Amino acid sequence: MNAFFIKEADFTQFLGNMIGARKVIGPKARKNRFVFDQIRKPEDLRLDYDVTILPPKKVFFPPRQELIRFHGQKGSSCIQPESTVLFGVHFYDIKAIDMTDHLFRENNMDFNYLAQRECTTLIGSNVQNIFKRAFFGSVGKGVAPKGHDGFTTKISGGYLYEVYTAKGKDLLAYGTFIEATEEQINEAREVNDSVMDKCPEKINHDSLEISEKVRSKFNSPVWEEFAHDCFSCGSCNLVCPTCYCFDVQDNWNVDQVTGSRDRTWDGCLLEDFSSCSLTGGSKENFRETRGSRYRHRIMRKTSYLTAKLGGPACVGCGRCSSSCTADIADPVNVINRLMEE
Ligand code: SF4
Ligand code: SF4
Repeated sequence: MNAFFIKEADFTQFLGNMIGARKVIGPKARKNRFVFDQIRKPEDLRLDYDVTILPPKKVFFPPRQELIRFHGQKGSSCIQPESTVLFGVHFYDIKAIDMTDHLFRENNMDFNYLAQRECTTLIGSNVQNIFKRAFFGSVGKGVAPKGHDGFTTKISGGYLYEVYTAKGKDLLAYGTFIEATEEQINEAREVNDSVMDKCPEKINHDSLEISEKVRSKFNSPVWEEFAHDCFSCGSCNLVCPTCYCFDVQDNWNVDQVTGSRDRTWDGCLLEDFSSCSLTGGSKENFRETRGSRYRHRIMRKTSYLTAKLGGPACVGCGRCSSSCTADIADPVNVINRLMEE
C-alpha cells in the first residue's frame, strides 16, 4: 500500500483538476438527503454525507438500462462505457460493489454491468457522519472491503489517500500529494476503526451463527407477523446495494418493427416477482403471501448467498429500514428476534 497526504487547502484544487479532466461521480446534497451524481464543482462534493438514497451500484447497473436497439431482426448494443471516477464511496458500499462484481462475473459474465465497472476508478472515503439506521459495525465483520482503487480518510489538516491500484495512482497527478507519515497512517486507521462502534443499531450475533439459525426458522410464524403491514412496494429491494435482480423487456415502437430491449431493477418483495406463466394463459405465483416474500428477502441477506460471497449479503447501510413506510424492513429487528427464539 502507498499512502499519501494532501492538505485541506489543496484538496479543492485537486478536485477541480480531477473534475476538469475526468467525469467524476460522488455524493451530493439533494434537499435534506444525499445522492450519487455527477460532480461539476468541487463544492458540490459532500464527503460528510451519512448515506445516499440509492447505492452507487447504479453507476454500473442503472435502475433502467437500454441494452440493445433493434430494427427487424437486426440489433445493436446501446452499452457505451465511459471513463469515470466514482469518488467518496463508504466502505460498506465498497463491500456491496464487490459482491455485485462477483455475482455479475460468475457463470455467464454480464458485460452490460462489467463494461462500465471496468471503466470506473473506485475511490472510497471514510464515514464522517453515521446514518441513523446504520448497523455496518455489527454485520459481516470478517469481510473486508475490496475491489476499490484508492481510499481517502479525513485526518488532521487534510486527507490521507491510500493507493491500491494503478488506476488509483493515476489520480495523484491531479493534486499536491506528499508521502504520508506513520502517524498520519495510524490516525486514519483509528478514524476508520472508531466508527464501527458508533452505529445506532446492532446485530447481536455473528454472521455464521445467524446464517444457520435463520435458515432453520423457515417455518417460523415470525415471517407472517413481521410482514403483516407490508405494502409489497419493493422499496426495501430497490434501495439495497446488494440486491441485483432485474427484469428484461422488449419495448416495441408503434411501427412494430423497431424498439429496444431494456432492463430494469426488480425486487423479490413485489407481488409479481415470482409469477410464472403456465400453459393455457394461467399463471402461478410461488411466493404468493407477503410473509413468504419477506422471508425470502431476509434468507437471501443472511443465509442463501453466504457460502458464495464469504459473508452475509447485507452490509448494514440501513437504507431499507429508512425507506420502508411500514418500518418493518430493518434486518436488525427480525434477525435479533429470530436469534432470541
Ligand atoms: S438489507 Fe438493508 S441494511 Fe442490508 S445492505 Fe440491503 S439495504 Fe442495506
Ligand atoms: S419496503 Fe417495507 S412495505 Fe415495502 S415491500 Fe419492503 S418490507 Fe414491505
